[in-house]
Amino acid sequence: MVKKIKVNRPLVELDGDEMTRVMWQMVKEKLLLPYLDIEIDYYDLGLKMRDNTDDQITIDAARAIMKHKVGVKCATITPNAERVEEYSLNKQWNSPNGTIRGMLDGTVFRAPILVKNIQPAVSSWKKPIHIGRHAYGDVYANREIRIPGPGTAELVFTPADGGQPIRKVIHEFDAPGIIQGIHNLDISIRSFAKACLTYALDQKIDLWFGTKDTVSKTYDARFREIFQEEYEVNWKDAFEEAGIEYFFTLIDDAVARIMKSDGGMLWACKNYDGDVMSDMLASAYGSLAMMTSVLVSPKGYFEYEASHGTVQKHYYKHLAGEKTSTNSTALIFAWTGGLRKRGELDGTPEVAAFAQKVEDAVIETVEGGVMTGDLMRIAEPDPKNRQVSTEGFIDHIREVLEGKM
Ligand code: NAP
Ligand code: MG
Repeated sequence: MVKKIKVNRPLVELDGDEMTRVMWQMVKEKLLLPYLDIEIDYYDLGLKMRDNTDDQITIDAARAIMKHKVGVKCATITPNAERVEEYSLNKQWNSPNGTIRGMLDGTVFRAPILVKNIQPAVSSWKKPIHIGRHAYGDVYANREIRIPGPGTAELVFTPADGGQPIRKVIHEFDAPGIIQGIHNLDISIRSFAKACLTYALDQKIDLWFGTKDTVSKTYDARFREIFQEEYEVNWKDAFEEAGIEYFFTLIDDAVARIMKSDGGMLWACKNYDGDVMSDMLASAYGSLAMMTSVLVSPKGYFEYEASHGTVQKHYYKHLAGEKTSTNSTALIFAWTGGLRKRGELDGTPEVAAFAQKVEDAVIETVEGGVMTGDLMRIAEPDPKNRQVSTEGFIDHIREVLEGKM
């Protein structure tokens, strides 16, 4: 056994639910703890514990991330009515991801994990396209009215200081129709811009942003202005030094260019664009289990997780004693993402180098034809491909990793 690698400062661990909880434990025990001398600040965000603590555990976990700067999170159940019954909950608790995102004021970035034997649906994409979605306002916090018949629809702003209201006629209706009011906040847009600029610089990749500011000359234009301002004032020099660029274009032009690009950029998207485009990218790249996800806070906190859920169906099979073939790749990359960041922040390149070895071991395993069921379905056919179990996959990665240590 080689000497364990010392991680200087604690890593915050947020445990989760169902199949991902099972895999999370295996990953930790088989791929990490044998090699690392690490202090883990552990929070059990499993649904039962959130219920027992009136969700205080989620708040404590978010505070721990603020303290230590880096956290890794397993997938968790966001309870619906069925879950309230299944787990006899006191309350239908909010999404822990929402609570944590609210406290860290973060933006979620996703990127596919590429392997040679799985081709993206778009053949020109050679490098990962990272996506950052603004998660505040717009249509997700809208107010809508079904207009029953003739009348005037107006947009009115009433100043709190008793000043003159600002009004605009939306439409003079002479027949039934619909209207919608949406909003956003300068502070939220600026925080989104900062998170995107931080992430792009961190990853040393270009930043693309698109809005429909030719049509939406106030609303969408405000997004463009804030991004431009933030870039010019606080980031331009650092970007130039890193040899990366900030590129703004119309959203439809951005979509057209993305389809013809070879990838390798961060694509910052307004809330709705990000909702739609992140699903398109995930499906075009192949499997949910091959997608990384990180919450980046403009205050310098990082939380790494998988972008998929708790894989409930596989968990029920597992509970019934059946063999499962669930893919732990995204969970492993959550841990390695956190470790790499820990290494960077602590000035311990050996920790980052270890994270890289684990990631390489995963990629080599899949490229060597050893894969879970979700990948067997989308990999290029090859006689050497074989499907392994959930645990068999992790065991194989361990063998490859051993060869690198
Ligand atoms: P899911 O866990 O993402 O799984 C949906 C389907 O995707 C699975 O049934 C499976 O397809 C496939 N899949 C996802 N991850 C996989 C993996 N690692 N390996 C192999 N296949 C994988 O979504 P869900 O079942 O709709 O949600 C379950 C729970 O997760 C819900 O309670 C939800 O609240 C929670 N959730 C949490 C997060 C989070 O914490 N970040 C995110 C989303 C959802 P097949 O069945 O076809 O094999
Ligand atoms: Mg969506």
